[in-house]
Amino acid sequence: MSTKILIVEDEEKLARFIELELLHEGYDVNKAGDGRTALDMALNEDYDLILLDIMLPGLNGLEVLRRLHNDKQTPVILLTARDSVMDKVSGLDAGAVDYITKPFAIEELLARIRVALKFRHQPGAESEGTLNATQTAKEEEGVQVWGLLVLDEKKRKVAYDGHEISLTNREFLMLKILLENRDIVLSRDTLLDRVCGYDYIGETNVVDVYIRHLRSKIDDVFGVKMIQTVRGAGYVIRR
Ligand code: CA
Repeated sequence: MSTKILIVEDEEKLARFIELELLHEGYDVNKAGDGRTALDMALNEDYDLILLDIMLPGLNGLEVLRRLHNDKQTPVILLTARDSVMDKVSGLDAGAVDYITKPFAIEELLARIRVALKFRHQPGAESEGTLNATQTAKEEEGVQVWGLLVLDEKKRKVAYDGHEISLTNREFLMLKILLENRDIVLSRDTLLDRVCGYDYIGETNVVDVYIRHLRSKIDDVFGVKMIQTVRGAGYVIRR
C-alpha cells in the first residue's frame, strides 16, 4: 500500500508544487486549502503524514493539530512562513514531529518527510497502539537535515541520501555545529573553541583541516557544495 500524505496549504501554487513533487516520489496525495476541511479529512482518512501550514483560513494550523491529536496521532510536519520560535515550540508541544520554514528547498522537505516516515515505522512506535508524538518530537530534536544529508546526533550517524558517511568525532562535531547554526557564518576561532575546547592550544588551521575532511567525505563524493567559505570571516552551511 502506498504512503498517503495530506497537504494542508492555502497558497494554491505552493500546494500544487508540493503535490506534484510528492506524486513524483510515488506518494498518494490529498490537498486541503483551509483548516476545517483539513481537520475533517484528517479525522476521516488514515494518513501516514500531514504537511500542515500554520497560517490558514478557518482554523489555524496549530488548532487543527491540537484537535486532530485529541483523536489520533497522525504525524504532522508544520509549514511555517514565520520564522517564529513561538510557533515552532507550540507546534512541537502540540505534537508536530517537525517543522520547516518557508521558503524551503523541495529536497529538504522530501528529506524531512522520509525522516518523519522512518520514525513512524520504528519498532515499538506502532506496537504502542498510537505513535507517541511527544517522544517523536524529542527524537527529532537531535536530527539535522540539509537537503539529502541527515545527521542523527543520538545515533551519531550521518547519511547522504541513505548512504552512511563515516566521520571522526571531531568531524562529526564540526558538522553538527555548522548545521545547528545554519545561515550563520562561524569564525575559525568559534569553531575551534566549540570543536576542540576552550583550552585547546594549537593552530586554528586545524579547523581548515576538518573542513577539508568533511568536504572530501561529503561534497566531493556526492557532488554538493555544502560548506561555504566566507573569505575573512569563516564557514557557513546555508539552507
Ligand atoms: Ca498560509
